[in-house]
Amino acid sequence: MILIDTHCHLDVEEFAADRMAVLARARAQGVAGIVVPGVRAGTWDALLAFCAGESDLYPALGLHPVYLDRHRETDVQQLARQVNRAHLLAVGEIGLDYYLDGLDRVRQQGLFEAQLEIARTAGLPVILHVRKAHDAVLATLQRIPVRGGICHAFNGSLQQADRYLALGFKLGFGGMLTFERSSKLRALARELPLSAIVLETDAPDMTVAQHRGERNSPEYLPYCLAALAGVRGEDAQQVAAQTTANARAVLGLDAWHGVH
Ligand SMILES: [Zn+2]
Repeated sequence: MILIDTHCHLDVEEFAADRMAVLARARAQGVAGIVVPGVRAGTWDALLAFCAGESDLYPALGLHPVYLDRHRETDVQQLARQVNRAHLLAVGEIGLDYYLDGLDRVRQQGLFEAQLEIARTAGLPVILHVRKAHDAVLATLQRIPVRGGICHAFNGSLQQADRYLALGFKLGFGGMLTFERSSKLRALARELPLSAIVLETDAPDMTVAQHRGERNSPEYLPYCLAALAGVRGEDAQQVAAQTTANARAVLGLDAWHGVH
């Protein structure tokens, strides 16, 4: 079984003590590729260096809306430079967060649009973080079309899902599916065509029911697969093959030659 974790913050401090051991255990579970999205400019160099050393790690760089107050004016220009200099798989994670209080929506919008423009110019897919803001994100993507990408931890409506698909996006599903109380999300994962779905852990956040209260890890991706196959009533092998093919296609993994 070959799986791709399309969203995993393996570069962060929570993995400082055992990063390579976690990676080894994930590989042993069939995780053949991990997309590592950046969230702040200050973390990009270490992220790139980490990914450069391992052929199954794929770097993305972006300015996450949740860290709005920590981004500097010059960070967007630095992202544009990095896109030209470093070899990135995608721009991300970027987006709009209307869930958290105190994140200025006008400034979020400006930051999001500037990064979409960079992705469009470079012809790169994007990795989206969207909370309570799907309509605003979709309207923005309509104005600034990019090559597609992944809407990570998707939790919108079926209608919003269709609009993302029409714009060339896949929808990321992960640990939340393993919780029986996620009834709306499970219904969505059942109703969507399998061609729309990619798997992710979002480690170290959003852990699986089997490891409730613990640090999440890419080695738990098979639990996400099992939950997805379970709610759909489909064969896990088949779901693994299709979601992996979806990730490869939308991110252009086969055509990507990184710094490895
Ligand atoms: Zn993330």
